[in-house]
Amino acid sequence: MNRLIVDPRHIREIARAQRELLEIVADLVDEVPSIVGHLWTTRIWSSPNEEARIMRDIKEKTGKDYKTSGIHTVDNPIRAWDIAPAPTVDDTMGKEIADAVNSRWIYDYGRPNMKCVLYHMGHWHVQVHPRTRRNKEFKPHVESDHG
Ligand SMILES: [Zn+2]
Repeated sequence: MNRLIVDPRHIREIARAQRELLEIVADLVDEVPSIVGHLWTTRIWSSPNEEARIMRDIKEKTGKDYKTSGIHTVDNPIRAWDIAPAPTVDDTMGKEIADAVNSRWIYDYGRPNMKCVLYHMGHWHVQVHPRTRRNKEFKPHVESDHG
């Protein structure tokens, strides 16, 4: 079983998170093969100042303008959570894991191109919208006894 590392700041932020965000993060952590090992919470909520610093850092590293969506600065409830694996996860595997989780969730029925999980820059970005719901078409392997 994989373990997801959080620090005390993150615990306070998790308490303010939208419920579906917690469910999708748990789903993602379960989806990662156990050989990957521990997963780190690298970011949940950011103040607007932190967000601006992160954008500057990315611009310095890549030389490109980088504009975030700002979803990490949304509060009440919190709607985004970044999770980094050990460096052994390549882009292909990271994206396959994101696709598997995305098949079970709908970010927003009105915008089907939007996804709950993205793998980019070495981490999974998990996000939810007030209309994020479980995808009813997805059939789990476990049979329900409700018919
Ligand atoms: Zn993110």
